[in-house]
Amino acid sequence: MRAVAWHGKRDVRVDNVPEPTIRRPTDIIVKITTTGLCGSDLHLYEVLGAFLDEGDVLGHEPMGIVEEVGGEVAALSPGDRVVIPFNISCGTCFMCNQGLHSQCETTQVREQGMGASLFGYTKLYGQVPGGQAEYLWVPFGNTLPIKVPHGPPDERFVYLSDVLPTAWQAVQYADIPPGGSVAVIGLGPIGDMSARIAMHQGAGQVIGVDLVPERLERARAQKIEALDLAEHKDDLADVIREMTDGRGPDAVIDAVGMEAHGSPGPKLAQQATGLLPDAVAGKFMQKAGVDRLAALYLAIDIGAAAAAPYRWSVSTAG
Ligand SMILES: [Zn+2]
Ligand SMILES: [Zn+2]
Repeated sequence: MRAVAWHGKRDVRVDNVPEPTIRRPTDIIVKITTTGLCGSDLHLYEVLGAFLDEGDVLGHEPMGIVEEVGGEVAALSPGDRVVIPFNISCGTCFMCNQGLHSQCETTQVREQGMGASLFGYTKLYGQVPGGQAEYLWVPFGNTLPIKVPHGPPDERFVYLSDVLPTAWQAVQYADIPPGGSVAVIGLGPIGDMSARIAMHQGAGQVIGVDLVPERLERARAQKIEALDLAEHKDDLADVIREMTDGRGPDAVIDAVGMEAHGSPGPKLAQQATGLLPDAVAGKFMQKAGVDRLAALYLAIDIGAAAAAPYRWSVSTAG
């Protein structure tokens, strides 16, 4: 079959590779019909090469039709339509039972100190072949795939694999009070969806920031108050405070990708820091201002900052 394989930094090719097979009775094989290309794939293309081997198959946002099921798969049959979550979780261990699927104890890669395995995402996450391929091997056929109806186009469902839950989770963590305000930094796929989910969940005021005209237009069409970073290089925090009665927004969501175009990540992070209390901001800028891993450090810092009275949520995927 054909599959997108990694060959080196900035070297990704469509190769012919062996088709996957059922290895355990709870496995399934999915014939892929649509698969996303993620902002996170750019990390593999650029900076995470040390954790890949030549020939590793990429991709973690797939959906398709069940081609084959193992003998103990009761939840699905060949011909069923499924979305496959990027995070490989068993659905039955202690962590999965707490709803912490990204820490699944059955698939986590302990020697790397990381969370659960991921499709198509380096040795750090299990080196599992990915979904940018004609066929995908999927374990835990009874619990992992999301069965969806036949009929509507793939675009109605494929975002369930990663970007929609990622954006939804960012909004959950941001904990915007009913009718409250949120600033979303970055309006790519995750930021745009986060802003729209925040509106859907009852935020009273959603402010978005980006510098790509098409993204600003798309956000404004959804009644998001979109600010052009190019016009607010030096006064972004002041303008957002002005828009929120001088207090600043109730919540901030950072949705700037690590390899954002023109690397505005650190720049945006600097601007956003103006909205944070000093104790948090100092620590934040120490980490966030330095390099292209800004969003990753940011995510780590935000974990610590979550205890602060300020609401701050981060999403590095997408
Ligand atoms: Zn993704
Ligand atoms: Zn589990």
